[in-house]
Amino acid sequence: MSPRWEARADVIVVGTGVAGLTAALEARELGLRVLVITKAAASAGNTRWAQGGVAVVLPDEHDEGDSVTAHIEDTLVAGGGLCADDAVAAILADGADAVTRLRELGAVFDPGADGNLARTREGGHSAFRVVHAGGDATGAEIERALLSAAQDGRVPLLENHIAVDAVRTATGAVVGLVVLDQNGVPGVVSAPAVLLATGGLGQLYQATSNPEVATADGLALALRAGAPVADVEFVQFHPTVLYTGPGARGRCPLVTEAVRGEGAVLVDALGERVMKGVHPREDLAPRDVVAAAITRRMATEPGGVGDHVYLDATHLDTELFRRRFPTVLAACQSIGVDPSADPIPVSPAAHFACGGVASTVDGRTGVIGLYAVGEVARTGLHGANRLASNSLLEGLVVGARAARAIAADIAACLLADPRAAVRAPLPTAPVADRDVLQRVMSRYAGIGRDAEGLAVVGSVLDVSAVDTVLKTKQRVEDAALTLVARALIAAASARTESRGCHVRTDFPDSDPAWQHSLAVRLNPSGQPVLAAPTSLRSAA
Ligand SMILES: Cc1cc2nc3c(=O)[nH]c(=O)nc-3n(C[C@H](O)[C@H](O)[C@H](O)COP(=O)(O)OP(=O)(O)OC[C@H]3O[C@@H](n4cnc5c(N)ncnc54)[C@H](O)[C@@H]3O)c2cc1C
Repeated sequence: MSPRWEARADVIVVGTGVAGLTAALEARELGLRVLVITKAAASAGNTRWAQGGVAVVLPDEHDEGDSVTAHIEDTLVAGGGLCADDAVAAILADGADAVTRLRELGAVFDPGADGNLARTREGGHSAFRVVHAGGDATGAEIERALLSAAQDGRVPLLENHIAVDAVRTATGAVVGLVVLDQNGVPGVVSAPAVLLATGGLGQLYQATSNPEVATADGLALALRAGAPVADVEFVQFHPTVLYTGPGARGRCPLVTEAVRGEGAVLVDALGERVMKGVHPREDLAPRDVVAAAITRRMATEPGGVGDHVYLDATHLDTELFRRRFPTVLAACQSIGVDPSADPIPVSPAAHFACGGVASTVDGRTGVIGLYAVGEVARTGLHGANRLASNSLLEGLVVGARAARAIAADIAACLLADPRAAVRAPLPTAPVADRDVLQRVMSRYAGIGRDAEGLAVVGSVLDVSAVDTVLKTKQRVEDAALTLVARALIAAASARTESRGCHVRTDFPDSDPAWQHSLAVRLNPSGQPVLAAPTSLRSAA
């Protein structure tokens, strides 16, 4: 490909969520020339939608008896035996400093009555240690603060520029990116370091809490650049997002657990209770239990309607609902549902990718010049199941650490010279129809998987994917979804046990023999295959 435009920097940051902007700001502080690109508007990522907060143990503001050690312990328990202990310890130990830096940049967290930061407690936490902003608008405040710090002119930011593929040297080092600009015109940005902060993969599924940009692009780009991904079979589902109709795309609004806390109950199309007899806490059972029960009811039980059930809140006090849940009420009204008269249609939705590009706590991948941070990366912090509110923290901590690692690698002359780039044509990759892909992924690779269903997904993708030149944004995204779906299927098929977010109906128990992560990489013909576990150690 002859690029129609070019740009140069020391480091290219892809993505403007918490992880990318933190890295870009730190890199700038270290004197590096930074270029940030993002494929949509700057605030379009998952960060802006984060609600609950940031889990952190602050030195002088914590519950009696709480400590970083206790936070580590909670994280390891949630992670189902698959966290990397050293990564958990390193990331959580840096949490307080990372939050302090963020506040210095201007982020305002909610104060408590005692003048300290207000702290709340979420599922899996043994103490009140989740700090939040704007009530339930933590992500929006973090995004605002980081963006305003970045938009002072010293961090060039290209919106509506999508990273397509890595530019590499003959020996495989990454030295830049092929990018389509806002008019779809291909160009090349060159730098000895490329940092992926491209977020999650919720759009693999029909229903997701993630916005439209969460199409797994960074995972696909890293795989094609030779990096392994790991733990990709572990996708965390939220039990209840608003079901907005068949074929609905994009972000589904969350219907917070607190609505069930106030007494709403899940029912199927016949009005039968979904959670009755499933768990002693019924509708307030843990998230994974509720999500799995809804999925079973949708798929198999009499009264199942295929793609959603209902949350019946009609008996709740109308005034209380309006006061406590204005966001949920507005979302319901936008699809013509009046929660005081109609049951709210809901379904489980893909929420968070626990796995990602295998990387160290400094963002280094196994490929020279390629770094990954935030939700796109797998550092080992989350294991088989993320502890609530650990992901914003990871973006803050690892984003800054990766910038320092890049500065150190440049200073030590460890990276390749962009002038050694091998110019390649716009890549061609298999692309499946997105609706078909989302339908089979939701039906067979969501909550409750088995060998037969996973094989169906594999066959459907094999039959329907067509080799396509990645010359539009839509094609880049659909190719990423196709490749990452295949990688996820490879790992989920191999893992013949249930653990954390990975629920196999044909292997319902955890198996100690599987207490290790699975890495996936591309074979020479571009197929995702399981990689040796040592490939996780080589991400250094
Ligand atoms: C509804 C919701 C609630 C949540 N609540 C919490 C919470 O309370 N606490 C918590 O810790 N976590 C929460 N999370 C998770 C958390 O928000 C995310 O894990 C985190 O924000 C991810 O940040 P990031 O920087 O890695 O990616 P993102 O914020 O998703 O940013 C990704 C960026 O990459 C860009 N991009 C993607 N592909 C390309 C490409 N090919 N080329 C160029 N740019 C590209 C996107 O446009 C975007 O700018 C929540 C998530 C959701 C969806």
